[in-house]
Amino acid sequence: MRLFKTVAGLRCYLNRYRSGQPLFDRFMTGESLPEVSIGLVPTMGSLHAGHLSLIQKARQENKLVVVSIFVNPLQFGPTEDFQQYPRMLEQDQALCEQAGVDVIFAPSVEEMGVGRQQSAASRQPSAVSSQKAEGGSQKTEDGSQMLELEAQTISFGDASRFWNTQADTKSPSAQSSPTQVIPPEPMTSVLCGRSRSGHFQGVATIVTKLLSIVQPQRAYFGQKDAQQLAIIQRLVEDLNLPVAIVGCPIVREPSGLAYSSRNQYLTPEQRAQAIVLYRGLSQAAQVFRAGERSADVLINMVKTELQSVSTIDPEYIELVHPSTLEPLEMIEETGLLAIAGRIGSTRLIDNILLSSRKPIVAIDGPAGAGKSTVARQVAQVLDLLYLDTGAMYRALTWLVLQSGLAVDDEPSIAELVSQCEIELSGQPTLMEKQATSISVSINGQDVTQEIRSLEVTSNVSAIAAQPIVRKELVRQQRRYGKNGGIVIDGRDIGTYVFPDAELKLFLTASVQERARRRQQDLKNQGKDEISLDELEQSIYDRDLKDSTRALAPLRQAEDAIEIQTDNLSIVEVVDWIVRLYRE
Ligand code: AMP
Repeated sequence: MRLFKTVAGLRCYLNRYRSGQPLFDRFMTGESLPEVSIGLVPTMGSLHAGHLSLIQKARQENKLVVVSIFVNPLQFGPTEDFQQYPRMLEQDQALCEQAGVDVIFAPSVEEMGVGRQQSAASRQPSAVSSQKAEGGSQKTEDGSQMLELEAQTISFGDASRFWNTQADTKSPSAQSSPTQVIPPEPMTSVLCGRSRSGHFQGVATIVTKLLSIVQPQRAYFGQKDAQQLAIIQRLVEDLNLPVAIVGCPIVREPSGLAYSSRNQYLTPEQRAQAIVLYRGLSQAAQVFRAGERSADVLINMVKTELQSVSTIDPEYIELVHPSTLEPLEMIEETGLLAIAGRIGSTRLIDNILLSSRKPIVAIDGPAGAGKSTVARQVAQVLDLLYLDTGAMYRALTWLVLQSGLAVDDEPSIAELVSQCEIELSGQPTLMEKQATSISVSINGQDVTQEIRSLEVTSNVSAIAAQPIVRKELVRQQRRYGKNGGIVIDGRDIGTYVFPDAELKLFLTASVQERARRRQQDLKNQGKDEISLDELEQSIYDRDLKDSTRALAPLRQAEDAIEIQTDNLSIVEVVDWIVRLYRE
């Protein structure tokens, strides 16, 4: 593991990695254009299980994992706990090392262009009453104790100088304040934005800088900071930044309290009281599941629960749309119920996603395990839409051929795919794989028959192998997922396309069994017999290729239910899945 404290060092390392890796990969796998995937996990350090879950996900999905550790002065208000915020670089380094992180980027505030050098020795605890905020609150007696956690000499900036609310004789001139990124006002004026003016601008500025410095393929953020996640997703979209933002679920202590670096401010009694936040949210989730959709009722539910603990001082309880953060009166499909409150001097935040969409069934697994046959039948029985991704790739291939584009003209195909709309409707039949009654249209034209032509069949894999095609089609698949009620199969549906699918299955069968099934298929089709040995070898090779490929590698989601189908009939597998769904 490497530790860099400067942009120059990190950039040099990443440049060398980017230019060296393709050669190395080509040598190892024989692939011509492997993806050099870098995953970034931005943090403020003092790492806990919540951070580690982001790191673990980044580790699974990328070749190189960079964790940034930077206590960002721009996101602290003048009375917040910037000085006291726990800094534990040595401990964080050890945790990162254990978690398989490749690079830590721990710049000073000066290096990030947002502060001035100040040695730990000359630093004094803040004279103003600073707040310990998860988003911002009251500092206390233990401020100096917190400073002791700051083992190393770390460069600090004085956050207050960015805030014109505070008279500061040392304030630099306006010219030296950094360029900042301002997220849309409606997203920053709700929830934590009400009491933390300027906070999300500070977050957006530093995250934009980190993305620009590291240039990762993916960056990981916790749902714990749901407002931050929504704002960053919007930022990346609005600024066309070439990075996928991956949201990760909240990790909680066994008591239900969400992990937070600021939990260490809590006394044991306060820690026990803090559980009420999650208890309130869980009770609201329960009545939501029973059919309640009104914001007033759900919010009151939480409020009443919070009133049971007199030491909690609620700051807000709000129901907003999880992506736009618009306040909701009723939940149509999804809502974010979010809460901030103070316990003693410490401000804590928590939230829960309430979703009434019909479930998504994601079926992954190796080639030949029977995924698409099973997926079609499950959709039929449960009256869900079978999202036939194969048909989507075929429809696009038809359009490429129809438009007269060469199948290897990736830039032109990129333009075409980014402007096309594919629609699937209807139900699959129970019988044959190809004999489907799903209608497929592209840009309003029905191409259900056309996409089965020989020409489309022989070109579809060349088109599907193009990263931009996959990216755009995943976007369209997710559009379907918004309303739920779909069954979809593939290699990385549960891990990438729909990581929040309600039911994830991983269908497998031994290589021997899949070879036997394949031999039977060939026989049924009247084709030449291939020996079992040869079939086993080719299935083995295909598995290896599928799980190591750069584009959409085969992976089993941690929360997927594995179904070993060696001794099961299709009907038995379908019954099993239908039972799981109904449960
Ligand atoms: P912080 O160090 O507090 O800025 O957090 C760094 C990242 O970790 C952010 O994306 C947070 O949302 C995420 N994070 C913090 N706590 C948790 C948690 N309990 N579960 C999941 N993610 C978290």
